Amino acid sequence: MNFMLTEEDSYWHKGLRKKLIETIAAKGIKDEKVLSIMNAVPRHLFIDSALIKYAYENKALPIECEQTISHPFTVAYQTQLLDISKDDKILEIGTGSGYQTIVLAAYKAMVFTIERQKILYDKFSVMPLLKKYHNVKCFYGDGYKGLKTYAPFDKILITAAVPTVPQQLLEQLKPGGIMVVPINTANKTTQEMKKIIRLSATQFKVETFDQFQFVPMLEGKKSGTSKHLIQ
Ligand code: SAH
Repeated sequence: MNFMLTEEDSYWHKGLRKKLIETIAAKGIKDEKVLSIMNAVPRHLFIDSALIKYAYENKALPIECEQTISHPFTVAYQTQLLDISKDDKILEIGTGSGYQTIVLAAYKAMVFTIERQKILYDKFSVMPLLKKYHNVKCFYGDGYKGLKTYAPFDKILITAAVPTVPQQLLEQLKPGGIMVVPINTANKTTQEMKKIIRLSATQFKVETFDQFQFVPMLEGKKSGTSKHLIQ
């Protein structure tokens, strides 16, 4: 398995990571907590060994199934907007590499993450680093449906682009809860980051932030088996 080769976190990696954190702080991330968590999470462990030299550049990188591990700045930006408290119950849509998932888990929140690609779900579910986090539950499924059994959530994070706010997910947000979601602009190639605060059972407040580029949130599940998991 690819990950086994790269499980260690060396001083070299730590040094590169520190520089990356300084870069995203200089780009406007002020939240000290997210900066210190991202300074501690070894991003290179979530990346294929062929791309590992780019792990600490401020870039999105390809992962399996033609998906991407989000840009570190984007991870910090979305996490900052979620305003996480310890013990929050968080629903994440789009596990992908699992990097953002571990950043959320490092807050000691309870994290429920859904991925529609079986290959990505399988890969993250067996990642050795995940064993250190007992506060993460992984699901293979269609994020548009959310997780009714575990709802309501204090926070909902969508890490893929949507045309409109998914209604079923809004219903799974607690009153007082926050959803962070990138919504397509008219040209559909970029998304505006929205923070939606559920004020009551029927009232929502929407705030709009900067523009980003995400892969699309797709309906339904996608099966498959990773070559990395076959020994
Ligand atoms: N946070 C991840 C981002 C991955 S990109 C990371 O940094 O690694 C977005 C992910 O959303 C992809 O893995 C994609 O497969 C997944 N996705 C897209 N539509 C989905 C859906 N309906 N339900 C669950 N996951 C979905």
